[in-house]
Amino acid sequence: MTAGTIETLVGVQEIDSRHRSLLQRIADCQAELESKEIELAGQRTSVEAMRSSSNAAATRRRELEALILAKERSLKDGRMRIDRIRNERELDAAQREIESLKEGLSRHEEELLGIFEQSETTDAALGTEEAALAASETDNEALTKRAHDEIAELQKDIATDSAERERLAGLIQPALRQEYEKIRQRRAGLAVAQMRDGSCMGCRMRLRPQLANDLLRGEAIQKCPGCNRFLFHRDETADAAASG
Ligand SMILES: [Zn+2]
Repeated sequence: MTAGTIETLVGVQEIDSRHRSLLQRIADCQAELESKEIELAGQRTSVEAMRSSSNAAATRRRELEALILAKERSLKDGRMRIDRIRNERELDAAQREIESLKEGLSRHEEELLGIFEQSETTDAALGTEEAALAASETDNEALTKRAHDEIAELQKDIATDSAERERLAGLIQPALRQEYEKIRQRRAGLAVAQMRDGSCMGCRMRLRPQLANDLLRGEAIQKCPGCNRFLFHRDETADAAASG
């Protein structure tokens, strides 16, 4: 009965260890997805900022083109007017106005030229970034699908394991089950340790010959005096012969 019980505990522990690594893989998948999502959000923000500055430049370009057109018209009108002025003072005023229009016009033209030059660089960079973002979005879609499939698969494995664990745990006395849980929590997920060559594989402590013999006879559940884990023994030569 005890040998069966300890084998059952070993079975439960195998499931628990597998469970833990499956959960870890799910967490890894989710962490990878999150970090990709953060990366992508950064890329989107940067493309958005570039787009909005490109739009602002286009708006300013249109404003300047309209201003330049208006000033050119005023300049033409002013020049036509000046031909008809005969009064010295009015002529002075009209000439000053023309000078100021010309100054304004050259300022606008200079700014427009600057915008054209800058837009050439920034729009090319925007194009590159947009293409990179589109590629990242496609990659991320594929990654997300793959990760979700993998997570679903892992969850299915966990569910299958859970059913088997429940069945096995049902075979163990409740007090022993509780003890198993307690030791597992305290001992980094390992509550049942194998005895090999007279030593506990949980803590590497050499066991007293008497304890080793008791364990080999399998009359009662034995625990390691060093780490307090349940001990089990397996005849590995027989295993090797059977499998080999
Ligand atoms: Zn030990």
